[in-house]
Amino acid sequence: MDYFPLFLDAKNLRCLIVGAGEVAARKLELIMKTPATVTVVAPWVCDTVKQLSEDPNVTLIERKFIDTDLHQQDMVFVATDDNAVNQHVHDLARAQKVLVNVVDNTPLCQFITPSIVDRSPIIVAMSSGGVAPVLLRYLRQKLETVLPANLSRLGAFSEKFREKVKQTLSGVTARRYFWEDVLDGDIAELVEKGQEDKADNAFEIALQAAAENNKPEGQVYLVGAGPGDPDLLTFRALRLMQKADVVVYDRLVSPQILELVRRDAEKVYVGKARSNHTLPQEEINALMVREAKKGNRVVRLKGGDPFIFGRGGEEIQTLIDAGIGFQVVPGITAASGAASYAGIPLTHRDHAQSVVFTTGHLKDNTINLKWDSLAQPEQTLVFYMGLTGLPIICQKLIEHGLSEHTPIALVQSATLQNQRVVTGTLATICGKQEVAELQPPTLIIVGGVVTLHPSLDWFTTTTTE
Ligand code: SAH
Repeated sequence: MDYFPLFLDAKNLRCLIVGAGEVAARKLELIMKTPATVTVVAPWVCDTVKQLSEDPNVTLIERKFIDTDLHQQDMVFVATDDNAVNQHVHDLARAQKVLVNVVDNTPLCQFITPSIVDRSPIIVAMSSGGVAPVLLRYLRQKLETVLPANLSRLGAFSEKFREKVKQTLSGVTARRYFWEDVLDGDIAELVEKGQEDKADNAFEIALQAAAENNKPEGQVYLVGAGPGDPDLLTFRALRLMQKADVVVYDRLVSPQILELVRRDAEKVYVGKARSNHTLPQEEINALMVREAKKGNRVVRLKGGDPFIFGRGGEEIQTLIDAGIGFQVVPGITAASGAASYAGIPLTHRDHAQSVVFTTGHLKDNTINLKWDSLAQPEQTLVFYMGLTGLPIICQKLIEHGLSEHTPIALVQSATLQNQRVVTGTLATICGKQEVAELQPPTLIIVGGVVTLHPSLDWFTTTTTE
């Protein structure tokens, strides 16, 4: 982050604007949305600024800038068409520690004004640091349409009851739960519809109820985070991630996805590299139970889908035994992610009528699987956790009847920017992997569908054949 975002209290803010053309007028309009006192100094003044300066908060001085104009100012916008003046005011402001912005001249801007969506008291401010203005404008338009126009009403409603809630509910967590329930539910709907009286009544009743049962119950959300690309999260996953008090996550959860977790949430890494479990499963279970009992909302964030090689079943059994409420949120499993992003459909009328998801995890250097049922024609096999066992997988499939020419693909880091695909046959793939050295997480796909990869691939940047 090259710029530090913050909101300045404008109640006693003093702002100078040097220049009074149309560019200055735009800054004046902006700052006049706040209670700041503004001084505009310029020898020539455009009509818009003239009109705006009739406001009692604005003082217009019609002459050239002199150095003493900066005295007692907190910030200054410089918008003259004279580069020397702009530079001079900038230098002087920096020397006197007055915040300075020379309009449309990024090197001379100590701060920049963000693009805003104003639903006061809710203000959304965004910036690209000046590097992607078009993208920013696009995002702003999106937000304008997504954020209800009457969000302001909801903001004002929250403000009205803020103190009362503070006095009635003692704990910070209790207050947050209460507000989230209010803002998620019927009361917010009433406010947005403009039925304030009904909303007030419902609010008082809800607050009373919350006060009588002040300790909220913790819950665990078992959430599938998908294969890595954050765009592949479900809406529900995202919503719960943003409500979490504690997030318990493992190695497969990408950093981009962790970024989306509520910033104040405590994040607990519980590892799980192959045969190197950072926290044993029992301790992960105990941790979730403990945190939920404290009244926390716990998100157990797992790569892919929690119910596909994710030990999700065991984890919720523990929660059931401990009497803790939970939800399970499915995620896109690695097989789906890898298939789509590598252009390898898992079923295809010409190649495969069934697909098997299986594990290639080695126990005592062997993989105990029903190889006969795996080594079938017209069937796609997907091996999770199979990279280390790759030679055994290939050998067993050939031994049990698959041709050594059967196509096979290795997909590393599916859906992420560093996705890599290596294709070959059961006979050649081990040699290719020795050269390519793909790293976990890597998924193995076996079957005729792999031949479609060269023509259907749309995403992979590195394919080794
Ligand atoms: N619950 C997860 C699977 C966990 S098992 C899911 O549904 O996807 C871990 C294995 O999943 C890894 O060894 C690897 O084989 C596979 N895997 C997970 N994410 C992957 C990714 N982004 N790319 C390739 N393989 C992945």
